[in-house]
Amino acid sequence: MKKTIFLILFATVAILINSCCSSKNSESMTKAIDPANMDMNYKPGNDFYRYVNGGWMAANPIPPEYSQYGAFNVLFDQNQEKLKELVDEVSKDKNAETGSVSQQIRDFFNSGMDTVQIEKLGLDAIRKDLNTINSLKTKKDIQHHIAEMQKEGIYPLFYFFADADQKNSSMEIANFYQGGLGMPDVEYYTGKDNRNKQLRKDYVSYVTRMFMLAGEDEKTAEADAKKIMDIETALAGISKTRTERRDAEKNYYKTGLRGLKEISPAFDWQGYFTALGLPEPGDINLSQKDFIAGISPLMDKYSVDDWKVYLTWNLLNKSANYLSDDFVNEHFEFYGKTLSGQQELKPRWKRVMNTTSKGLGEAIGQLYVEKYFPAESKKRMIRLVENLRKAFAERIRNLDWMSDETKKQALAKLDAITVKIGYPDKWKDYSKLKVTPENYLQNVRNASKLEFNRNLAKIGKPVDKTEWGMTPQTVNAYYNPSNNEIVFPAGILQPPFFNADADDAVNYGAIGVVIGHEMTHGFDDQGRKYDKDGNMNDWWTVEDAKRFEEKTKILSKQYDQYTLLDSLHVNGKLTMGENIADLGGLNIAWDAFKMSLNGKEPETIDGFTGDQRFFMGYAQVWRQNIRDKELMRRLKEDVHSPGEARVNVPVFNLDVFLAAFRISPEDRLYIPKEERAYIW
Ligand SMILES: [Zn+2]
Repeated sequence: MKKTIFLILFATVAILINSCCSSKNSESMTKAIDPANMDMNYKPGNDFYRYVNGGWMAANPIPPEYSQYGAFNVLFDQNQEKLKELVDEVSKDKNAETGSVSQQIRDFFNSGMDTVQIEKLGLDAIRKDLNTINSLKTKKDIQHHIAEMQKEGIYPLFYFFADADQKNSSMEIANFYQGGLGMPDVEYYTGKDNRNKQLRKDYVSYVTRMFMLAGEDEKTAEADAKKIMDIETALAGISKTRTERRDAEKNYYKTGLRGLKEISPAFDWQGYFTALGLPEPGDINLSQKDFIAGISPLMDKYSVDDWKVYLTWNLLNKSANYLSDDFVNEHFEFYGKTLSGQQELKPRWKRVMNTTSKGLGEAIGQLYVEKYFPAESKKRMIRLVENLRKAFAERIRNLDWMSDETKKQALAKLDAITVKIGYPDKWKDYSKLKVTPENYLQNVRNASKLEFNRNLAKIGKPVDKTEWGMTPQTVNAYYNPSNNEIVFPAGILQPPFFNADADDAVNYGAIGVVIGHEMTHGFDDQGRKYDKDGNMNDWWTVEDAKRFEEKTKILSKQYDQYTLLDSLHVNGKLTMGENIADLGGLNIAWDAFKMSLNGKEPETIDGFTGDQRFFMGYAQVWRQNIRDKELMRRLKEDVHSPGEARVNVPVFNLDVFLAAFRISPEDRLYIPKEERAYIW
């Protein structure tokens, strides 16, 4: 399933790699800010990021199984240990009834750990699926089978899912979203530089080896791999880039089945929907209309046999992580090593834990919050959020570039933001999920199927606004524009983001900025296009919108100019929304921090003033070491700027930061007053 519009705090994992993070955490969380983590050789004005984090970075080289290692990874890793404890606890109940949550969690996890059984099954785990694809005779068969595969979590060509209608946010409608590529994005297929050329070669040999593992001889496998490259390059040709996909209006085109047939006539859409179990889909949003239109000539161009190769490839690639080790290792070789620079596969239990936690999301989440989420955290978060909301309102009232008319709308939108903290009020039901101890892949598929059906059943019905788009154990946060809501799962409400023992300065700099960041998403370059009810609906005067655009250009330029790895730059357009949110988050959290003091001076600790500790609390959230390949990949794909830029760019726009650290015009990152970005 693919939700397209959530604005998350950070992209946690490689888009295509089903794995995440690990290694024993050696970090002490006792001190909110540990001076040992700093590096005084750096001047705050030349590199604030390394000034705060240099000590930590030197002491924490990237473990081999990581492509990047930072505060988030450490926290994620601690969370993995907690989840494992939960699994161990429920596994003690040997007599757990079939269908009970204990049985499901225990057997899901054990099925993934049972390598003897997985190796024994080998290719047999997908033999039936391979045979079914082989037996397809016509293009219609191909198209109907795409529906069958999607039901089980494999998405050839495109994604299909229910989502709120962007212009009528209280209703769920059918959505198509471009897809079908094995490499992460369009540029990998079209880029003329050496890195992309090499990656294309590596990808073709990866596909070849996978076809050979599936039983093909070398010559056939090579020919099939070339065919895959050819089809996917054609798909890339009709795809939008990531930057183009950020534009909310240009990724909305509402039609119905009849319209869809006209736009893309060579695809049997009626048959496809019937196979899905949704013969009358009602309203349909084509997130990328040109992509859906472009599928039609491609359907004609390639033969049934070509499409069978393509479906087989999708099956192999998406199943690889749950098959025998030869598949797992090949998959890792390309997606882990080649694309991200990861040196080693993560330990099996962590990979399986991650998959189990996704498959049984809220079932595990419920146990997780009972054991690990203190009620007090929720109360403190609610207070913090409301302080941030007050501070933001005050900032909006004082904006010198916005008319009263638009301000009124902005304040109404801010006031209407819904807040979700910790975990959902009602839990998803997993009682129909069949989990057995002997077939890992089948368990993964059954879980995908349950979610697919849960999602499909929403189409044509009102949006359930109480639902969560992340599980409680997730270490992340998001803003959802069509619900106009900010969501903070229990997983992120831990140090260094949220620290019950820390002084307010540090907490406002860390979780305070996170809250402000998510709130600001409602007012970033895309979020601002939605009104207080979550509908795409322009509430800006023409002049205010123009002034806003001008302001975002200043910020965009600052990031475009930020250099990494000697000659690479952050892409200011791709990361625009996130950068606006970071800058807004800092400003709002700062004001809320000041309001909370009621005129009192904040504590000085270890020689650092409260004002300084606010920014240090912010900077340490983004500390990380990252491999060159991973950084290159993320600069192309991630809508978030790298941790270093998330610190070193936005803070230099704040007068209060410059004052707190006595930054002067001679310092490297100093921004002259007239070039500073000030938006929210
Ligand atoms: Zn964000």
